[in-house]
Amino acid sequence: MLRAVLSVGSNMNDRYGLILSVFEEFRNELVASSRIFSTPPWGVEDQDEFLNAILIVEVDLTPMELLRRCQKLEEKAERKRLRHWGPRTLDVDIVCAWVDGEQVVSDSPELTLPHPWAHARAFVLVPWLDADPQARLRETPVAELVAGLPQTEVDGVVPTDSE
Ligand code: AMP
Repeated sequence: MLRAVLSVGSNMNDRYGLILSVFEEFRNELVASSRIFSTPPWGVEDQDEFLNAILIVEVDLTPMELLRRCQKLEEKAERKRLRHWGPRTLDVDIVCAWVDGEQVVSDSPELTLPHPWAHARAFVLVPWLDADPQARLRETPVAELVAGLPQTEVDGVVPTDSE
């Protein structure tokens, strides 16, 4: 069995619908999940806030097969995006994964595990901690990684009242 932490983000208009489509996809394989968080966009101001969430799933797939399944969800969202909105619709990244309790480590550009930026992104770490207060990235508690981020970044990631 593969256990994986998935980071989901969207800043298109139907952001909740897109995030919830990932919850729906994995509803029978979900171990834990975060609330849906809102993150203000950086730099470019004429775009919606991002919504982010973490899903912890257990699937009977290889890491690459899981990546393909995540990419299919992104492609579906992309079609919707082309009709209506800007460039960022749905991102589904694999933050890290374990096979039978062993952490998967991969340097392949197609699937880098753990995800190379996960340790530095408040919009990944804050929801992850919400889903699993005991979470660790490699050996480091995620709570420790969050404590090491600039407070303004952490404060920007706030739970929403999702429908
Ligand atoms: P992005 O558009 O930033 O989501 O990047 C997508 C690309 O990153 C795809 O080509 C993936 O093959 C690659 N990739 C590498 N590592 C990962 C990972 N851990 N999770 C998701 N995509 C990954």
